[in-house]
Amino acid sequence: MRVSMPHMGNLYIPFKALFQRLDIDFVIPPISNQRTLSLGTKYSPEGLCIPFKLALGNLIEAAEMGADALIMPVGNGICRLGYYAQTQEQILHEIGYANVRVVRIGISEHKLLGLLKTIKYLANNASWPRIISTFRFGLTKLNALDRIERIVQKVRAVELVKGTANQLFAQAVDAIDKADDYNTLKKAQADYLDRLDRIPKDPQAQPLLVGIIGEFYVLLEPFSNLDVESELGKLGVEVRRTTFTSSWTKFSLFLNSLGINEKDRIHRAALPYLKRDIGGEGWESVGEKVLHAKEYDGIIHLAPFTCMPEVVAQNIMPSTRESIPILTLICDEQTTKTGMLTRLEAFVDLLQRKRRAGTNKQPRVTVRGGYT
Ligand code: SF4
Repeated sequence: MRVSMPHMGNLYIPFKALFQRLDIDFVIPPISNQRTLSLGTKYSPEGLCIPFKLALGNLIEAAEMGADALIMPVGNGICRLGYYAQTQEQILHEIGYANVRVVRIGISEHKLLGLLKTIKYLANNASWPRIISTFRFGLTKLNALDRIERIVQKVRAVELVKGTANQLFAQAVDAIDKADDYNTLKKAQADYLDRLDRIPKDPQAQPLLVGIIGEFYVLLEPFSNLDVESELGKLGVEVRRTTFTSSWTKFSLFLNSLGINEKDRIHRAALPYLKRDIGGEGWESVGEKVLHAKEYDGIIHLAPFTCMPEVVAQNIMPSTRESIPILTLICDEQTTKTGMLTRLEAFVDLLQRKRRAGTNKQPRVTVRGGYT
C-alpha cells in the first residue's frame, strides 16, 4: 500500500514525519501548481469549488506516483465536502486508476479518535503507544511551522528588503521538514524566529492591519488564493488569518472532545445577522467580521467560486451594524494574479486614505522588533 494525500499549505510536513516514523510508504504529490489545477479542472464537474478541483489534481498526481491509498477528509456538515471523497474516487476509477482507494477521514464526527484509527489502519495495526508518540512529533512540527508563519505575516509588512521573510520562511519549512528529533526541531524553530527578528525593518512603519477570513481550504492553501498574504506583505500590510491548522487541530481534535467549542464566541457575534450554521465557514465569516470590525483596518474575505456558504456570508456582511471595509476575492481557476493585484492595490489605497483621514475605527499600536 502506498499512501498519499492532497496538499493544504504545509500540512504534508507533519503527516510525512508521522508516516515515515511508522514505516508507511508515503508519497507527496508536487506542491500545487498550474498542472495540478488543469488536471483537477479537466476531470471535475464544472460547478464544483476550487478545493475539490485542486484536491482532485493532487490525487491524480499522487496516483501517477503509484499511490493507491489516498487520504481525504470527509464531513457530515451542510456543504458538498461530504461527497468529495466518493466523487473523487469515482473520477479516479473512470480515468484509469481502478486500483486506487480514497481513504475517508471523518474528522468532524469522529474527532481525534477517528484520525488515529485511520492512521493505525494505514500503519498495519501498529501499537497505540507508537502511533501516539509519532502523532505527537507530527503535531510539534505543525505547531513550529505555524508559530514561524505568524511572525512572517508581521515581518513581511515592515521588512526593508521585500521578500526576505518569505525566503527565510521557505528555509524554515525545509529545516522543520528535515528535523528528525525534538532537539533539532526546537533548535530550527528558535534559529528561524531569531533570524526573522533580526531582519532589518522600517522603524517608521505603521502597517495597515488586515484580517483574512473565509473558507478553510482557500485560507490555508496559498496556490488557491494566489498567495494573497505575500502580496499584501509587499504592499506593506500585516495580515491576521483567522485559521491555522495547529489551532484548528487543538480545538477540533482535542478541546472539542472535552465540550469546549472555540467557535462559540464567533457564532454569538454572528447571531444578530445569521442564526445558524450554513455549512463551510459561512457562519464564522460573518462572526469574524463583527468581532474584528474595531480591530482591523480592513478585511479580505476569500470565497471559492460557487461556494454557497461564503456567498451567503458575502451578502450578509455589508448590512451589519459593525462597519469595516471588506474586499471579497473569489478563488477559481479563472482568477488571474493581475486581476487580484489590481483589486488589492485599490483596496490598500482606500485603507491608507481612510487611515490618513482618521476615519478608521481606531488607531492601533504597532509592535516593532521583538516579534518573537
Ligand atoms: S465550504 Fe464551500 S468551498 Fe469549501 S468545500 Fe464546501 S462548498 Fe466547497
